[in-house]
Amino acid sequence: MAAYEFTDHVYDVVVVGAGGAGLRATLGMAEQGLKTACITKVFPTRSHTVAAQGGIAASLANMGPDEWKWHLYDTVKGSDWLGDTDAMEYLAREAPKAVYELDHYGVPFSRTEDGKIYQRPFGGHTTEYGEGPPVQRTCAAADRTGHAILHTLYGQSLKQKAEFYIEYFATDLIMSEDGECQGVIAWKLDDGTMHRFSAKMVVLATGGYGRAYFSATSAHTCTGDGGGMVARQGLPLQDMEFVQFHPTGIYGSGCLITEGARGEGGYLTNSEGERFMERYAPTYKDLASRDVVSRCMTMEIREGRGVGKENDHIHLHLDHLPPETLALRLPGISESAKIFAGVDLTKEPIPVLPTVHYNMGGIPTNYWGEVLDPSSKDHDRVLPGLMAVGEAGCASVHGANRLGSNSLIDLVVFGRAAAIRAGKIVDPDAKNQTINEASVEKSMSRFDGLRHADGDTPTAELRLTMQKAMQQDAAVFRTDKTLGEGCAKMAKIADGVSDLKVSDRSLIWNSDLMETLELTNLMPNALATIVSAEARKESRGAHAHEDYPDRDDKNWRKHTLARINDKNTVKLSYRDVHTEPLTTQAEGGIDMKKIAPKARVY
Ligand SMILES: Cc1cc2nc3c(=O)[nH]c(=O)nc-3n(C[C@H](O)[C@H](O)[C@H](O)COP(=O)(O)OP(=O)(O)OC[C@H]3O[C@@H](n4cnc5c(N)ncnc54)[C@H](O)[C@@H]3O)c2cc1C
Repeated sequence: MAAYEFTDHVYDVVVVGAGGAGLRATLGMAEQGLKTACITKVFPTRSHTVAAQGGIAASLANMGPDEWKWHLYDTVKGSDWLGDTDAMEYLAREAPKAVYELDHYGVPFSRTEDGKIYQRPFGGHTTEYGEGPPVQRTCAAADRTGHAILHTLYGQSLKQKAEFYIEYFATDLIMSEDGECQGVIAWKLDDGTMHRFSAKMVVLATGGYGRAYFSATSAHTCTGDGGGMVARQGLPLQDMEFVQFHPTGIYGSGCLITEGARGEGGYLTNSEGERFMERYAPTYKDLASRDVVSRCMTMEIREGRGVGKENDHIHLHLDHLPPETLALRLPGISESAKIFAGVDLTKEPIPVLPTVHYNMGGIPTNYWGEVLDPSSKDHDRVLPGLMAVGEAGCASVHGANRLGSNSLIDLVVFGRAAAIRAGKIVDPDAKNQTINEASVEKSMSRFDGLRHADGDTPTAELRLTMQKAMQQDAAVFRTDKTLGEGCAKMAKIADGVSDLKVSDRSLIWNSDLMETLELTNLMPNALATIVSAEARKESRGAHAHEDYPDRDDKNWRKHTLARINDKNTVKLSYRDVHTEPLTTQAEGGIDMKKIAPKARVY
């Protein structure tokens, strides 16, 4: 192995990732007086959060009656009763506080006539515990909400003197002999130097792994690096079988048309011009939950009622809305529709197709963002020194299916929670642990091996094979047959990593090596997804299994934990769902009867 020299850095807290979750955590940590570094492979405001359009959910009740208990009910139902109730209560309760905080930090929210934060309806968000009409709960800055949040949080973090390491690629966690996290290793992309960050607390906020699939709304940088780092330490990933397909990716490019489009009155039609959602979800129609709408669209296409030359997609209409509304509320997607579909949406429908959008699964944590120690019997003890927040983590508030606008709120609520917790448990006066050299060496030998990989398969080729296999076999509808085939294919594809060919051996701006590292992160995420899905013999949320069409609470209301060993085999175990809320009804909490499991219809 080539000799690598390191620049050493010492911090109280190191956050990996500068999306909404990473920045909110970074800002909070710095506010707590902790010496904080944030490492990011792209410039902070280019993180995928920048693309979030529709908005952020919180029961502010600015547009009509709303309360946090209704938000909790909708989230529990959205999760198809797989979310952890304590974490979901924390999310719904803290949401208004977290949004007003953003407002005061300077996020330029759209306003109502009387100056309050504007809120729009989103799928699955209702009033009166699902008995009343849809609620306007999603706070929006036009259709550029993520953009607004990211810029504001970055500015605030700088003001708090958090230190940024931009275009540094974190390669691995540094772990002590007895399994505590001690820091991270990072490669500085523009000059090729290697860095070791010692920290009392590492926070993974690396985002999702949408790029394990062929067609995804997420950025090319969404490669599940945090999940990869955790999996390499023999730690489990949770509920990976639950992958959300967004109903309205633009046909062909996968570029997202926000659910806010349907929130503002848009609707879907099939080749007969029929508004088919009225048939499937008579109450909430086009605003039923995402997994439901995606499945209905897929059913229409399968039954021959798709639009286009190949009858393989669906139309989204906005052409009946006043052009002023489109210009004011949805300016970004008017542009996307023009660029990516060549459509003037004031005149014609947009061709759309369900597209991979969000990963409900991730690194298992409690509602403070602390990573769970799988070796503890009830899985509820925490692993010292490591937290995970945002799409990389799994708290779990989204369970088997996430409601639209519940991710942005997850980022800020749990980014903030992680900081509050770290403020209590990280001692700024304590000395950092001595770094475990063996852990560093193991990681560098992997890095060096990939840098000099001299097989026959280019990285892009293996990545494409993986993406196509996942798209085909772990899709909107799943069967024993497709999942079984998918597992076999993925096992072979994962073995293909040993035959990779990297042609650039340098360390400066070596995108070939970076994409190879990313591929080795996508791989364990993809493996865990397909194997966990194959094992789950029921249908729940985004996991629609044709051979087991019903939800089976008796046997399957439990979280999947998937561990991947060196030989790419996946070992599964299960963890109980937390069914107890944080507060009892007597303490002002929800009436448990309201959130007892029942059929999930919209
Ligand atoms: C097109 C689109 C629209 C969406 N719209 C909405 C919406 O309206 N409302 C909503 O609630 N949700 C929405 N979502 C979902 C939501 O935006 C995402 O779940 C969320 O932004 C993820 O944020 P994050 O902070 O976890 O990660 P990201 O924003 O993805 O950030 C990840 C960060 O990690 C860093 N990173 C990753 N790997 C490494 C590494 N190895 N080394 C160093 N740094 C690394 C990256 O540089 C980046 O800074 C949308 C998603 C998409 C794709």
